[in-house]
Amino acid sequence: MPNLKVLLSREQIQKRVAEIGAEISAEFQGQPVVLIGVLKGAAIFLSDLARNIALDATFDFIAVSSYGSEKQTSGEVKLNKDVDNSMEGKNVILVEDILDTGLTMSYLMKVFGAHHPKALKIAALLDKTERRKMPIRADYVGFEIPDKFVVGYGMDAAERYRNLPDICVVEE
Ligand code: 5GP
Repeated sequence: MPNLKVLLSREQIQKRVAEIGAEISAEFQGQPVVLIGVLKGAAIFLSDLARNIALDATFDFIAVSSYGSEKQTSGEVKLNKDVDNSMEGKNVILVEDILDTGLTMSYLMKVFGAHHPKALKIAALLDKTERRKMPIRADYVGFEIPDKFVVGYGMDAAERYRNLPDICVVEE
């Protein structure tokens, strides 16, 4: 059985998510925003973030897959579920659990850039800056974390642990 060690507590997460929500509310000042969550890892972050945004906010979800092993993406990303509506002229915020190599987000920025949104931003709860392969940064970052595999608060290891309220490091 792997051992789970708390890296970020539920209290730390809630405080930071509230701060990001306030930042987004201030930046878009009364304009509507569309939050696009990347399934499944960002679902819990999106639902908490949305409740901390004091704007007219709508949601959509997309699903992507990347080829490679469980912990390492190969670089090829595929869109398995697209948004329901065009994002043309909208203030779009892509909501992701972790910005790791940056391959997924670089791909999604291209896909959503082609919609010609009014604004296109990235909110990433976690940022593993050490692992970056693509020159991409998030506009809103929850926490910078070291190169460790984490679970909880929506993030999984083979579909387990998504319901943990804290973010934990898996130690074998
Ligand atoms: P990237 O394309 O930036 O390398 O991939 C980011 C995706 O890899 C994240 O959205 C997440 O699904 C997955 N990922 C990267 N690091 C971790 C981790 O520590 N834990 C979990 N559960 N998923 C991770």
